[in-house]
Amino acid sequence: MTSDALTNAMSTGPLAAAQQQLREAAIHLGLDDGTYQMLSSARRELSVSVPLRRDDGSVQTLRGYRVQHNLTRGPAKGGVRFHPMVSLDEVRALAMWMTWKCALLSVPYGGAKGGVTVDPRNYSAAELERITRRYTSEIAPFIGPDRDIPAPDVGTDEQTMAWMMDTFSVNAGHTVLGVVTGKPLGFGGSRGRASATSRGVTHVSLAALQSRGMSPEGSTAAVQGFGKVGRGAAGFLQQAGVTVVAVSDQYGAVRNESGLDIAALGEYVDRTGAVVGFHNADPLESSALLELDVTLLVPAAVEGVITEINAPRVNARVVVEGANGPTTPRADEILNERDVLVVPDIFANAGGVLVSYFEWIQGNQAYWWSEQEVEDKLRERMLRTWGELRERSSRDGRSLRATATAMAVEKVAEAHRLRGLYP
Ligand code: GLU
Repeated sequence: MTSDALTNAMSTGPLAAAQQQLREAAIHLGLDDGTYQMLSSARRELSVSVPLRRDDGSVQTLRGYRVQHNLTRGPAKGGVRFHPMVSLDEVRALAMWMTWKCALLSVPYGGAKGGVTVDPRNYSAAELERITRRYTSEIAPFIGPDRDIPAPDVGTDEQTMAWMMDTFSVNAGHTVLGVVTGKPLGFGGSRGRASATSRGVTHVSLAALQSRGMSPEGSTAAVQGFGKVGRGAAGFLQQAGVTVVAVSDQYGAVRNESGLDIAALGEYVDRTGAVVGFHNADPLESSALLELDVTLLVPAAVEGVITEINAPRVNARVVVEGANGPTTPRADEILNERDVLVVPDIFANAGGVLVSYFEWIQGNQAYWWSEQEVEDKLRERMLRTWGELRERSSRDGRSLRATATAMAVEKVAEAHRLRGLYP
């Protein structure tokens, strides 16, 4: 990368966005410079090499990271991403967002994130297991149920978590259930964890539509991403009465103006691996999905997809961020100016970490809750936070994102103040 391109990437990437949001919150709250400086950099960063023996016998060395942005309100918490675009700066941004997400929802954790720069689609299951176990060994001194608790994110799943837990436990000499969340239901997982993020996105979407005077039956939705978040959200939105007219995945998009059958689409994707070619739907250009004339847009894939280029063409009335960081700061301004209601990631997709917290409590106590208990607690906490967020946003006359960030930063700064600086 030339130095110009590097400067450009640094000033427009997710870390720049996260830093800008923090800066605005610090100014709004009148934070002292010392506290601001402390919150703007990660507490601990680990960069590890992950040598992998490939199935053909050759050895390839991958790069992995674990960043703990903040540990003040409790152990660090956040997912592990396997994706070709993973970089230290991206992980830093995602770790900072986890700190705010946990604080906003009053979950007693700090924030962390991890990742390996790898495209999991190009590796066999056996290779992915070796990558996961070696990465876990490398970060093992850094993690633990009281220190830092990984979870699934883009490109990882409950099998990844089972391997992480097993590797950590074998090295500890005993089973440590609380070291990761998002584990399989058959072993240490919580009921309702797999669907938690998408359920949370759905509760928030319906509440946001209602705040704009729209009923589920009178609403249409487009969902970007058909993975852990988008697929569930599309299904739950449809069950709630919303007409889901378009969805996309990394291979393409499909559209049906009278509503896609999400259950049938799910079965199709399980069979073929992609949404493209689904019967009863027309093909759609992936980028066009973000600009469809719908009431609700749910970006549920990766960061930086709504930019200053396409934000003027976003036609949705409400945008609910299922992904982390899908809207760039400039795009955010444009959407606000155009009176599009943007429900920010650190609130909208917090259902996942909320039920991760429930899983950690259950694992630590070896006492398991019913699905209904988990779902009721999730719904109650999301809607309570929505009420607090809206009230303060209209009181301060600031966007939901600016308000959510300020509320979270305020809680973390207060915890720092109460604990004091030692030594
Ligand atoms: N990766 C999810 C997120 O970005 C979940 C993190 C967790 O459960 O710790 O919120």
